Amino acid sequence: MLNEIQTGNSAASVAIIGTGYVGLVSGACLADFGNNVTCVDIDNNKIKLLQDGRIPIYEPGLADIVARNTAAKRLQFTDSLQKALQGCEVIFIAVDTPPLEDGSADLSRVENVAREIGRLIVSYRVIVNKSTAPIGTVKNIKGWINEEISKRTEQGETTVKGICFDVVSNPEFLREGRAVQDFTHPDRIVIGADNEKSRAIIKEIYRPLYLNETPFIETNPESAEMIKYASNAFLAVKISYINEIANLCEKTGADINDVARAMGRDGRIGPKFLHPGPGYGGSCFPKDTRAIASIGRSCNARLSIVESAISANEAQKKIQVQKIEAAFGGRENLQNKTAAILGLSFKSNTSDIRESPAMEICHCLAERGMKLRVFDPAAMEEAELQFSGQKDLFYFAANEYDAANGSDALVILTEWNQFRNLDLKKIKTLLREPYFFDLRNIYSREQAEAFGLRYYCTGRP
Ligand code: NAD
Repeated sequence: MLNEIQTGNSAASVAIIGTGYVGLVSGACLADFGNNVTCVDIDNNKIKLLQDGRIPIYEPGLADIVARNTAAKRLQFTDSLQKALQGCEVIFIAVDTPPLEDGSADLSRVENVAREIGRLIVSYRVIVNKSTAPIGTVKNIKGWINEEISKRTEQGETTVKGICFDVVSNPEFLREGRAVQDFTHPDRIVIGADNEKSRAIIKEIYRPLYLNETPFIETNPESAEMIKYASNAFLAVKISYINEIANLCEKTGADINDVARAMGRDGRIGPKFLHPGPGYGGSCFPKDTRAIASIGRSCNARLSIVESAISANEAQKKIQVQKIEAAFGGRENLQNKTAAILGLSFKSNTSDIRESPAMEICHCLAERGMKLRVFDPAAMEEAELQFSGQKDLFYFAANEYDAANGSDALVILTEWNQFRNLDLKKIKTLLREPYFFDLRNIYSREQAEAFGLRYYCTGRP
């Protein structure tokens, strides 16, 4: 079968270990490319949902692809790694790599999976690491698998002696909220392999993209691992940079919208990631910046720019809270006031609230005695779980207007499209006091003030 894969004559059988944002999207899209895919996860509630045809995350377009490929029997779900590995040629690792206390990536899940693979494989396999992990992880995965194979040999399993396998780094660049589009139309595919055989097998899995002339960047494993961290850290730096310029605009009378628009027209800078706001969040930028900074420190090659972006991002969330305090005439005046919070996810089009600036700002406002009427189009369930200890301070609103009803301020924290066209006349009538904090700059001062709202934004006079 592997020979057939190499010559393009057969669909590959693929196992994806970890069925979260990356694993589920990759699994569904690889099945859509014609591969036979089994997604496996230790969270059997997640697997049961998927087996019942339900999608555990909010991700536009994903449900259709999952349904189509499940019906075509190219995509299945199991909580048994042993079952998933049966007959599969290529094994993707897509488990989470959360930050440890010191900022470095926790590789325990990757190690567990690698050791499990070492205990189960019976013939040549290509193991592909998609989890974001430090430089050297491919080598570590090889070591963990080899240790388990040696143990089996020592225990008398004669057939395993000399089993070959390759480990490849294939970092993932999808963005939540646009994950399907990103996976099927990527800017580039990075394959970090140390031999031609494994590289050719991975290229075959992505064949539809290869034929569409997606750039394939072939590197050694270490470069592939570095590309992922360096890319995420660069984007985080760009966001922190524009946020700091926005803060300076507020003090100087410049308008960040004009400044960013003109900067973005410079081909060397580009218009993306130049939108100021309450800071970056999510499950990637915060953890990946901390991880690469930690790698830099441990290699004695300090990444001072990334470290500054991390501090600037922490400060950015606090600055938003201070802005609200200042508008009300001081921190003490927030006590017993109510804020309508629009948006809890870390960005629009996702239910992901991991390290969301909106969640952190909510916690800070609640600490100051504010009551919060919160609304998010997709993240209400996740937020209810996280705020469960403070039910008296939080009201989970049915929609934007229910949140505004009787509040002293409207605070837009996430730029969901449906918040861009609010009935400001109605909002003004519903609010007890007319404070409007548009922290994502999706309205203009003129629009808001025309309805008698007291408008605060980011980086504009
Ligand atoms: P996630 O938390 O959504 O999913 C990880 C899944 O792995 C969970 O369902 C978990 O139960 C499962 N898992 C953990 N240990 C397991 C094991 N031993 N066997 C089987 N399943 C196991 O994480 P995610 O957001 O999909 O991220 C996965 C990796 O991809 C991370 O390293 C992340 O940095 C990277 N990444 C994420 C994104 C993103 O936008 N979320 C983008 C690019 C890269």
